[in-house]
Amino acid sequence: MTQYDYDLFVIGAGSGGVRASRMAASYGARVAIAEESRVGGTCVIRGCIPKKLLVYAGHYAEDFADAAGYGWEVDAPRFSWPKLIAAKDCEIDRLNGLYLNTLKTAGVTLHPERAVIEDPHLVRVGSRRISARYILIATGGWPSLPDLPGIEHAITSNEALHLPQLPRRIAVVGGGYIAVEFAGIFNALGAETMLLYRGEQILRGFDGDIRRHLAAEMEKKGVRIRLHAGVRAIAKEADGSLTLDLGAGEKLGCDAVLYATGRAPNTRHLGLEGVGVAVDAEGAVVVDAYSRASVPNIYAVGDVTDRLALTPVAIKEGAAVAATLFGGKPVAPSHENVPSAVFSQPAVATVGLSEEAAAAAFGALDIYKTTFRPLRHTLSGRDERTLMKLVVEQAGQKVVGAHMVGADAAEIIQGLAIAIRLGATKAEFDATLGIHPTAAEEFVTMREKWQPPKQAAAE
Ligand code: NDP
Repeated sequence: MTQYDYDLFVIGAGSGGVRASRMAASYGARVAIAEESRVGGTCVIRGCIPKKLLVYAGHYAEDFADAAGYGWEVDAPRFSWPKLIAAKDCEIDRLNGLYLNTLKTAGVTLHPERAVIEDPHLVRVGSRRISARYILIATGGWPSLPDLPGIEHAITSNEALHLPQLPRRIAVVGGGYIAVEFAGIFNALGAETMLLYRGEQILRGFDGDIRRHLAAEMEKKGVRIRLHAGVRAIAKEADGSLTLDLGAGEKLGCDAVLYATGRAPNTRHLGLEGVGVAVDAEGAVVVDAYSRASVPNIYAVGDVTDRLALTPVAIKEGAAVAATLFGGKPVAPSHENVPSAVFSQPAVATVGLSEEAAAAAFGALDIYKTTFRPLRHTLSGRDERTLMKLVVEQAGQKVVGAHMVGADAAEIIQGLAIAIRLGATKAEFDATLGIHPTAAEEFVTMREKWQPPKQAAAE
């Protein structure tokens, strides 16, 4: 391997790139990584972590209100957005430092610059040319906004994490993870929040019951959800506010508009065309099961490929590439039964198939579902309902999907993901004892099959 400067050159120091470089170094490879922004990538710097801190902040608003039902008298609490943002920035700086340290300790050379691939074994970093036996593209994604008049007035999740003030009124465009999460954050922190989604229900691709239940709960909390809604143009007014043209003469005034209309892979100006790395119509690097691109010594992991845009997936893919190239053990990471959560308020978490996808895959299903007011809200008086649902394929009685909307959904579904991955049957769920009193115990105590209202009435 010595004819090259490095055994592995990684472009992008986010979750996937950092994991791949650390693991490769641990197998004895000589590794360098280039990062033009801050080490940590989307998740740590401008995604999962800062977002979750803001979600926690939002929950306090309800906690203060709910405390009264438990005998607490809380004087009108005041919230400071600038203080929250400063505290969050401090934590992100700390994590960035930890990531830098991790690379250093692992012996990975960091180039804090943009890298461009010039040849399958050659990368240009600033004015230097560096050769490598293998190249890993881990450049992630970036918010993608539609082209419409006034779009330059819109912000994305990147800017939402750094606004100098909390907007009084905010419109969020989109109905995916990011739109739903940020609508929840801004609403909880006190902004008048409107969610504008072009389709018939938010969170396309999720289980239908989950989508409807979440939308109803978000509306109870004050988010106004407009379905089948689109923005034609955005105009900035003299007072700095914005007016959204919703068509048919309808206008919506707001102080900020956040576009969460998807993310595009960062593959432009990387030199991919020049070396023949194939990308798909959306610009994502095309890879095989081992994350190998169309050029045999070039690999790609994480959001720059069109698989699952989730941090743990990128980490698994990065580790698998390192094991494949330097660990003497080719690993093709599985993308099945990947649990995920939407940190909406209340939260959504899911593993396995939605009822709709399971029906298409298996035909006959047994559905178990329950909605209830969590014990905590019997005294708080809050009108919030939890939904839990199990999707069971009828023939083999295997639980193929578990879904939840409610407090701690992500924490609960994480455990269930093991059972689902191992192919647990409904009988095995039933044989498991609950922990009482919890919400989670409902997942092992649902005995009655759900029947559509018409069928139930006929019997
Ligand atoms: P998503 O792809 O999840 O959602 C994009 C949304 O924008 C969809 O509702 C889509 O509508 C809508 N949309 C797309 N184009 C337009 C347009 N031109 N005009 C109006 N609406 C439009 O993207 P996100 O940006 O929310 O998130 C990107 C990915 O990041 C997610 O898919 C997820 O994998 C990951 N992520 C994960 C998180 C987590 O794990 N908690 C948190 C945040 C992100 P339609 O449904 O009709 O296509």
